[in-house]
Amino acid sequence: KMASREFHPEPTIIEVGNVRIGAGTPVIMAGPCAVESREQILQTAHAVKAAGATCLRGGAFKPRSSPYSFQGLKEEGLKLLAEARKETGLAIVTEVMDPVNLPMVAEYADILQIGARNMQNFHLLKEVGKTGKPVMLKRGIAATIEEWLMSAEYILSEGNPNVMLCERGIRTFEKYTRNTMDLNAIPVIKHLSHLPVIADPSHGTGVARYVPAMSKASIAAGADGLILEVHPNPAKAMSDGPQSLTLEQFDQLMKELGNR
Ligand code: PEP
Ligand code: MN
Repeated sequence: KMASREFHPEPTIIEVGNVRIGAGTPVIMAGPCAVESREQILQTAHAVKAAGATCLRGGAFKPRSSPYSFQGLKEEGLKLLAEARKETGLAIVTEVMDPVNLPMVAEYADILQIGARNMQNFHLLKEVGKTGKPVMLKRGIAATIEEWLMSAEYILSEGNPNVMLCERGIRTFEKYTRNTMDLNAIPVIKHLSHLPVIADPSHGTGVARYVPAMSKASIAAGADGLILEVHPNPAKAMSDGPQSLTLEQFDQLMKELGNR
């Protein structure tokens, strides 16, 4: 299989501008769950950049559990992300939810995020495979590591080698956290595959209070990077406020991680 260590013994390094993912130094991606306004995304972008992030996350197309919840700013959100990139130099990671919007999202994004709910949307995986752009493939809500790696194969086998895997927690019986972050998956993937692994402690825990500890644990386990939800006012966030760090909490975590 193309994702396996046997096929490709050396670790894959994905280059996004001057950001190198999988090259040894953990890459920090940070930003709000959703792009909400110009002020919100620009303020967050400047703050996470100053704190040591090199990539800006922000959803313009949001896969919400309820159709009545905020669905994202769509192309307007993508334009705001591009503006934030222009101002800060941060690389943009944003979700593409369906093949129809792929050409538009690919025009603005540096890294295409495939969300957990789409991990087995095989048509979408093949289409992002054809773009050749860096892809961050999130683990499905109830996916085994084997299923997750097979989804990566769909992208790789279309000729796109720039795939990173993102552990974002899986569904278990536990209720104190939103998901159960599978730290085991990090060393397992590093053993089985040459692809970089990114950890998402924000979705992995669902609780801002637990994000710093799980961020440190992820790096200790061998993650090639972190993706963290950060919001200037989590209490007012339009999505995922309870798991979002404030700008100050993010800055503090970066200091503790030695990233600045
Ligand atoms: C997100 O990154 O905001 C998101 C929706 O993640 P996931 O697909 O892992 O739930
Ligand atoms: Mn989110």
